[in-house]
Amino acid sequence: MIYLDHAAATPVSEKVLKAMEPYFTVDFFNPSAAYLPAKKVAANYETAKGVIAHAIGAKSSDLVITAGATEANNLAFSCLGQGKVLYLITEHASVRAVAEKYGGEAVKVLPSGVIDLADLKGKLNDDVQLISVALANNELGTIQPLAEISALIREVKIDRLKRGVKMPLYLHSDASQAINLLDINVARLGVDLLTINAAKVYGPKGVGALYVSHDVRLSPISVGGGQENGLRSGTENVPGVIGFAEAISRAKDHINGNRKKYASWRKMLLQELQGYELINKKHTLDNFVVLCYNGIDAERLIFLLEDQGIYVATGAACAASKGVRSHVLKAIGLSDEQIAGSLRITFGETNTEEQIHEAARIINDAVAKEYRRIMG
Ligand code: PLP
Repeated sequence: MIYLDHAAATPVSEKVLKAMEPYFTVDFFNPSAAYLPAKKVAANYETAKGVIAHAIGAKSSDLVITAGATEANNLAFSCLGQGKVLYLITEHASVRAVAEKYGGEAVKVLPSGVIDLADLKGKLNDDVQLISVALANNELGTIQPLAEISALIREVKIDRLKRGVKMPLYLHSDASQAINLLDINVARLGVDLLTINAAKVYGPKGVGALYVSHDVRLSPISVGGGQENGLRSGTENVPGVIGFAEAISRAKDHINGNRKKYASWRKMLLQELQGYELINKKHTLDNFVVLCYNGIDAERLIFLLEDQGIYVATGAACAASKGVRSHVLKAIGLSDEQIAGSLRITFGETNTEEQIHEAARIINDAVAKEYRRIMG
């Protein structure tokens, strides 16, 4: 198998699994219990939260642990009071759906996939309370200029203050895909809310976190025992959080090495593949290669490739499983035919250089066969 779909899922690393294991069996105690072993588990949970927070330049008390990024994204939007939300048109379904629920307005992207700052400025009126822009897109890998957006927000806030406009203005970013390869610091990015996801950094699925800056007030997503500062009640996922802490620190240690490696594989793959149009040319995570084969049905192609042991995607896993055409590729201006012929390849730690050569050869063969079939 050559797995080239690391944007959809990453395997739990051995080191992460090993760190988690005792918390399923020996140290299974409920952290809220009164006896000593449970208190030890509670302390280790807090330490792990501190490690996760530290990885993004935050404090443990700034984090709300959630059951994945979807939940964190939904929680972030609970900061909305009377205000409006602007969200990037290319956001993941978990942001788009909640933004639409709150009557949000979509901000355009340029053909490169990067935010259209002029469109954002045009839509940023005094009613806007929240702006949500993913740090890196899950279909294209496009990295957004968050520092630039937060500088704009600072200017708007000063102007609002001068004019006596009371509406607060927050910046939320879904960094699910970015934590793998970008060195994230919440202060440097200038975000008020940040979503992170263990499942994309060789940690367990169903574990995420929302960073919340101290001046943002949220409403609970679940009520009950009052865990996570009352914002997400329910017994803590101790093994999950221990695993997330190990995974995120491990990812940080590997950022530079992995970026270099993936950038060279990207170059190599683009040299060896034939007859494609490159979609994500610039401003992209190094492990994302998005290609279009004009006239080819990429859905068919991925099945042909699967027969040869190559696992790739046509877009976001959740959209692909519903047979929905990519709203991201549409937003960057691709035609229906181009969208139908698009393939997303995402490298990761399961890959080797030999696998990339092998994948290029198999993809070229499969594409050539498909063109021959179409031509009759
Ligand atoms: N946001 C982005 C950018 C993602 O790529 C994903 C997962 O694919 C999610 C959110 C949703 O994460 P989860 O399924 O862990 O809730």
